[in-house]
Amino acid sequence: MIYMLEDEAGIRNFVIYALESSGMTAKGFETPSALREAMAQELPELLLLDRMLPEEDGLSVLKKLRSDPETQKLPVIMLTAKDSELDKVEGLDSGADDYIAKPFGTLELISRIKALLRRTADIPSEKLELGKITVYPSKHEVFANGSKVVLTLKEYDMLILLMKHRGEVFSRDDLLKEIWGYDFAGESRTVDVHIRTLRQKLGDCGDLIQTIRGVGYKAGDDIID
Ligand code: CA
Repeated sequence: MIYMLEDEAGIRNFVIYALESSGMTAKGFETPSALREAMAQELPELLLLDRMLPEEDGLSVLKKLRSDPETQKLPVIMLTAKDSELDKVEGLDSGADDYIAKPFGTLELISRIKALLRRTADIPSEKLELGKITVYPSKHEVFANGSKVVLTLKEYDMLILLMKHRGEVFSRDDLLKEIWGYDFAGESRTVDVHIRTLRQKLGDCGDLIQTIRGVGYKAGDDIID
């Protein structure tokens, strides 16, 4: 069950219809209070949360969800008309798992929902380690050589995916599909750019994200030529 909190009836109905047409069950809510009433009865698998709401800002709704143990880990995709970097940072800092700018296509939305559900289905609760990189998924914290590293959402998701499947090689298309939810190839440079910034942020530990020439990337500490 997917819930959507969106005050504009046109968008809400359109999205609910699109999700149901693709085989998901979904319910839309106009106000935060209506959403909370429904949540008290049944928690959704994922929430689509509009940023601009009349009663209460979407970020405030999200912060409250994150401070409640029941909904702390609920997968949330923020929807917003704004697409500024600042807005993204705010959304991610307050705990959104993904972020989609309006206007969005329903195919993109559906593939992002599926990607997020796949990703959250098997997030380990214990810490992950690779060489001197340690990740605490429950706290969303990454340390390299003992220092805290601040990653963007996509860098973080990519690191978790690679570390969870240590030694397994992911092609650029695999990573696009898993992390960005795209069901098509053709933007593989996006992956390379994120791998590059991820490695830079990991400093000396960046080498643990290995390039497999002509194939893709993997996490490992073995020596490759
Ligand atoms: Ca709105």
